[in-house]
Amino acid sequence: MTKVLLIEDDHTLRSFMRVLLTAQNYEVIEATDAKQGITLALSLPIDVIILDLGLPDMDGLSVIEQIREHIQSGIIVVSARDKENDKIFALDHGADDYLTKPFNAQELLARIRVSLRHRSTTITESVESLKIRDIHIDFDKHLVFVLNNEVHLSPIEFEILSLLMKNHGKVLTHHFLLNKIWGSQALENDVQTLRVTMANLRRKIESTPAIPEYILTEIGVGYRFVDS
Ligand code: CA
Repeated sequence: MTKVLLIEDDHTLRSFMRVLLTAQNYEVIEATDAKQGITLALSLPIDVIILDLGLPDMDGLSVIEQIREHIQSGIIVVSARDKENDKIFALDHGADDYLTKPFNAQELLARIRVSLRHRSTTITESVESLKIRDIHIDFDKHLVFVLNNEVHLSPIEFEILSLLMKNHGKVLTHHFLLNKIWGSQALENDVQTLRVTMANLRRKIESTPAIPEYILTEIGVGYRFVDS
């Protein structure tokens, strides 16, 4: 049974998640503060952790720092709408994804599924090609097809699309993408270059680039390749 650890001090929200997840056959373990959460995360074989960033005894971000290197579990952080910097920090320090309050049942379940899928696919990471909806990417031959028509991407566009598709469903931060593509000396103003590259990539793969169906912008955070 898949084990989900809820680290959340809000009683109502915790109950909502417990009822929902139990009905989906997840085993739910609950912690009401950071200390209890850390102890449980480090002592039980947990699959996914839902971590509230606003905890009474400790900042949720410190929780990530304390547990990430010791555990394999997926971590999904829950935060307020205006906390973009916290989300970015969490993602860059080992969280897999985030949910913005208020979120609905479907969003929570979708994030958990993505997190579990990425846990299980890290073992067989060397895929040769991927087809998601109408986009087919061949990593070996460096080819991309949209509805069976080949599209020509620049090396950087190809690199970005590869990263997004391999991590489909998951948000990738600007910082993560910049690091992967331009290396650790990437500068903050390279975010502008990333935006331009993304606009070009969308023009090539999206039928209506202004209303993208594949590569969604997570405002202030990064990009996500949607698979459904
Ligand atoms: Ca809270």
